[in-house]
Amino acid sequence: MDLLEYQGKQLFARHGLKVSSGEAVTTVEDAVRAAGVVGYPVVVKAQVLIGGRGKAGGVKLAADEAQAREHASNILGMDIHGHTVRTLWIEHASDIATEYYASVLLDRSAKLPLVMFSVEGGVDIEEVAEKSPEKLIRHHVEELEGLTRKEAVQIARDGGADADVIDGVADALVALYEVWLGEDATLAEINPLIVTPEREVKALDAKVSLDGNALFRHPENQSLSDSENEDPIERRAGEQGVQYVKLDGDIGILGNGAGLVMSTLDVVAQAGGSPANFLDAGGGSDAEKIKQAVELILANDAVKAVLFNIFGGITRCDEVAKGLIAAFAEIKPSVPFVVRLDGTNDVEGRRLLQEAELGNVYAARTMNEAAEKVVALAAGQSVGAPA
Ligand code: GDP
Ligand code: MN
Repeated sequence: MDLLEYQGKQLFARHGLKVSSGEAVTTVEDAVRAAGVVGYPVVVKAQVLIGGRGKAGGVKLAADEAQAREHASNILGMDIHGHTVRTLWIEHASDIATEYYASVLLDRSAKLPLVMFSVEGGVDIEEVAEKSPEKLIRHHVEELEGLTRKEAVQIARDGGADADVIDGVADALVALYEVWLGEDATLAEINPLIVTPEREVKALDAKVSLDGNALFRHPENQSLSDSENEDPIERRAGEQGVQYVKLDGDIGILGNGAGLVMSTLDVVAQAGGSPANFLDAGGGSDAEKIKQAVELILANDAVKAVLFNIFGGITRCDEVAKGLIAAFAEIKPSVPFVVRLDGTNDVEGRRLLQEAELGNVYAARTMNEAAEKVVALAAGQSVGAPA
């Protein structure tokens, strides 16, 4: 679950990381009013879940009300790499002496938290990592100990932070580690972590991703997911406890088990199709769950055909068939479905589907056959008689 910059900064502030205070607004009038409150010069910042806002023209300094108004009206509604700007963050502009970089994430291969720091901040950190890797300090943290102050000081020194801000950088790293650990974040990144002319160390940007599966431990963070940036279908799926990820194609996909769903996406792509979503119905999917899943898939208007790929184990194919029949009775989908049932009670499942005479449900025995059929159906071609 990715957070907007200003939401990330709220978490930073909670853990004692220095940030500028400001206000999130959605209209030009509110932007101008907020600018007056925080005091000029201000910085007007697009709040979208994508980096590189500065280069795209989504971060602008304003010296007075006229400029604040101009920038706010230009940035609101702007498209930044496919993300429409609906919210602005207005904060008092900082003077910058130096821009550093800091982040904490889980290094899956080392199975340890990884703290990264560089004095080459502000720019593309991937470029630093590629062209001058020696300038990006990578430090693994022993989980039980956490990031100690001593280690943080060493990281700041190794990275070449200015001598007079070693303490400030170390404080920031320790606080950032606490954000990462305490909030169950998967990523906590500051780029740039600035040093002001007064030698204060401060987070000018925030990129935080929270682990959605740990959100139940942070009821106070629940509301962050209600941001308008989250896809409404994904949000609904989350509330229902269904693993759903929206994709940009036109073939709805449902399978049971994340691995099977991923292979299904691959096979559909190989057959020349483009999946509209990832949906894992999980194990033991009963009729009610299947109905919910069908509703989620069809909530996406782009869907032209749907593929159900069920490998019966704990999940019984006859249950899935019953769920599908119940869903059809209520929803009456207009798009065709291809259903591949294999495994526990598959014969019974296929028999139920056949007897139900749903009209636009096509049976398939193998995954490849199912993929070819659904791709053809999505393209408006005929594939023979329904199940
Ligand atoms: P990003 O481009 O999406 O990473 O957005 P950032 O929040 O990192 O802002 C991009 C750049 O704008 C920063 O690297 C700074 O150089 C500049 N910037 C942002 N806020 C301020 C500010 O308060 N004062 C000054 N002088 N520059 C700023
Ligand atoms: Mn940035």
